[in-house]
Amino acid sequence: MDTKAFDMLSSIYPEDISFLKEDEPFRFLASVLLSAQTRDDYVNAVTPVLWSRFPDVHELACADIHEIEEIIHSLGFFHTKARNLKALASEIDARGGAIPSSIEELVRLPGVGRKTANCYINHINAAPAVIVDTHFMRVAKRLGYAHGNSPEEVEMEIRDGFDSSIWSRMSMVLNLHGRKYCHARKPDCAGCPVHDYCKSRQDESGLK
Ligand code: SF4
Repeated sequence: MDTKAFDMLSSIYPEDISFLKEDEPFRFLASVLLSAQTRDDYVNAVTPVLWSRFPDVHELACADIHEIEEIIHSLGFFHTKARNLKALASEIDARGGAIPSSIEELVRLPGVGRKTANCYINHINAAPAVIVDTHFMRVAKRLGYAHGNSPEEVEMEIRDGFDSSIWSRMSMVLNLHGRKYCHARKPDCAGCPVHDYCKSRQDESGLK
């Protein structure tokens, strides 16, 4: 598949793009879980409070769920997130702190979907991963890199269509491009650096 747009975006955006500020494996996994439907900078503001109250997996597994809810309240969906977080901590605690390393095993953990699993193996294991969030999905489709209507379909199209050596970089770059230019409602096509390569660029009547 033609990668001109990706190549150009990859040359423009920084080499090191990271959204969640965690490097310890369990804390990173938990942070991705908490980042659903909210902004990463909000998660980055809340997690230090969470870790100072519950410094390790065992303490989080034994935590009062209402206390977790109170700490993560501002991140939205806090009942579900607190329940999943406590269940995740319990599961990892029962495994002696060991976190699985494959997507297939990770998605069996409480609250862990394919996006979270891909994020984890990419960030913690430095493994190739296609991380499909709302920004990536929108930009991949507008650039003609994928056509599916579900994150899993888009992930498989990217896996099939592109060499694994660029999956992770593509995940970061398209995500960032979606945040900076290719907005859901009003993409800034006039200022977009890949305007000339994009079949979906906006004309006067809207997205083609
Ligand atoms: S030209 Fe417009 S639709 Fe295409 S990638 Fe750029 S911002 Fe998105």
